Amino acid sequence: MSESIGGPVSLDGSPASEGIGAGKVFRLEWGVPVVPHRSISDDDTETELGRFHDALAWAKERLEETKAVTEERLGSVEARIFDPQILMLRDSAVVDGTTQYVRENRLSAERAFELRMLELRSMWSRTSHPMVLDRLNDLEDLMIRVLHRLLGKNDPTDLVKTEGGVIVVAPNLTPSLTVQLELGQVVGIATDHGTRTAHWAMLARALQIPAVVGLGDVFQRSVDGQEAIVDGRIGRVVLNPGSREKAHFEARQQRHSEWEQEIGAIAALESVTLDGQVVELRANLDLPGEAGQARDHGAEGIGLFRTEFLVVGRNTMPGEEEQYEAYRATAEAFPDRAVYIRTFDLGGDKFPMFLHMPQEANPFLGWRAIRVCLDQPELFRTQLRALLRATAHGDVRLMLPLVNDVEEIQQVRALLEEEEAQLARDGIPYNRGYKLGVMIETPAAALHAAELARHSDFFSIGTNDLVQYTLAVDRTNTRLAKLYNPFHPAVVKQLHQIARVGRAAGIEVSVCGELASSPLGAFLLLGLDITALSMAWPSLPEIKKLVRDVRMEDARSAARKAIAASSSEEVIRCLLDGIGDAVDVEVFSGRWSLSLPD
Ligand code: PEP
Ligand code: MG
Repeated sequence: MSESIGGPVSLDGSPASEGIGAGKVFRLEWGVPVVPHRSISDDDTETELGRFHDALAWAKERLEETKAVTEERLGSVEARIFDPQILMLRDSAVVDGTTQYVRENRLSAERAFELRMLELRSMWSRTSHPMVLDRLNDLEDLMIRVLHRLLGKNDPTDLVKTEGGVIVVAPNLTPSLTVQLELGQVVGIATDHGTRTAHWAMLARALQIPAVVGLGDVFQRSVDGQEAIVDGRIGRVVLNPGSREKAHFEARQQRHSEWEQEIGAIAALESVTLDGQVVELRANLDLPGEAGQARDHGAEGIGLFRTEFLVVGRNTMPGEEEQYEAYRATAEAFPDRAVYIRTFDLGGDKFPMFLHMPQEANPFLGWRAIRVCLDQPELFRTQLRALLRATAHGDVRLMLPLVNDVEEIQQVRALLEEEEAQLARDGIPYNRGYKLGVMIETPAAALHAAELARHSDFFSIGTNDLVQYTLAVDRTNTRLAKLYNPFHPAVVKQLHQIARVGRAAGIEVSVCGELASSPLGAFLLLGLDITALSMAWPSLPEIKKLVRDVRMEDARSAARKAIAASSSEEVIRCLLDGIGDAVDVEVFSGRWSLSLPD
């Protein structure tokens, strides 16, 4: 291992998993090994095929072990992430194709397998479809695994011999690699590619390993054994930190650990501003297993339950019973609290294997969310039935993503009425008074909010998408990360408009996009009189602290100035001035305030 020479290198990517970690770089070369060309004689055919099948069986066993570990650590739903790879091992395109090369071209098992996988990879790579790209990652992972076995090489993920905290630096990761990273030993992950919504990033969050993705060239720039800091909160990685950077991050880390200790106390406190405004703080769930952590961090209900975990990476449609159990468990984890469950938000960067989504030039502008559900009645009705049944176990509210038109809500209501009638005929209980609302995620919905409000019981603003569509900046494009600015005046004006319209219509307006989890963002939202905020559970205590340290009066006055501001920087300035000394923004806020010039 060598120490790199030179000063600190600070790289900005996207935050993918909370927390700060400092340690020594471990470059994870999870690459396809060089496979020597080797022909075999006719007599060796069966031996080679035997080796191939042994390697497949070994890979299956390892994957099943990893799946079992995941199930134990995180839960059965999370463990299903490994199913597509396990299935791939039996796929005839893989097995028969390789067998054919061994038999007909007299190639060694590793060479035949490599060729077949390269063929499949090249076929799949011709599309830019995110679902296929996700599978491509799985395919590559499998290829590396099996080839290592056939070539008798060590597993490159073997970190056991590495001492102390490890920062794993890789071009990208896969779910199986992430689960294999020894807990406690790996204190941070930094990758060139990947998005927050990637499966492995979800696992990193569940395992509480800080991670930053989309760093571009961190793998190339890093050196094994060099010191590094990963700040999964603001999405920054510092290689070779100097004393200044170390001191800065140590202070942040120190504050974070003190913070962790305060969490228990804060979770029990009321979420109310200095001038008496009660603020509902709810959690966003990506996986049902997070409900317990959400509660421990003080969640007063679930503001967004993303249900895509039930379908993404799966080969079959999830059944009504399985869905019902997942929704019911979440409702029961929060008795007497609202639980907003969003119907499948498929498309964009989330695709189930069974839907055979068409390849699209612009998936985020394409067949997505409510559009997919309305076109797939079988899938949608099953979910609606499971949701209706779950309403019998708590205050379950149904939330529709990416709605632009009144007709979309009307179509869903018509489907719900039919399903309700069927449940009534079957004597299955549900709550007739359940609420149905929409996410406001596009400028069209914001401008059309008054009409949408007439047909909705609530609005929940999805700022992640609202920002993307307002600014025409792809939220997954790391190159555009700097342009993806939720404090852009156009976004602020829309938030103001949506809040005003919702209030006038007498319906609840909440925010469940990431903006709510940044102190500056939350302060702005309070100032716009949006007093129901939902966020990833690790941010809850911090936002509660903010709520308890500010006055609505100050937030409103800052928001008034922000609405009139002519630039994002001015918006941020107004908010920082409004917050004043109430909160240590430098330590706790996200990138939006830190990106201000010193
Ligand atoms: C959003 O768009 O803000 C949102 C909460 O939904 P998602 O991030 O799942 O698209
Ligand atoms: Mg969204």
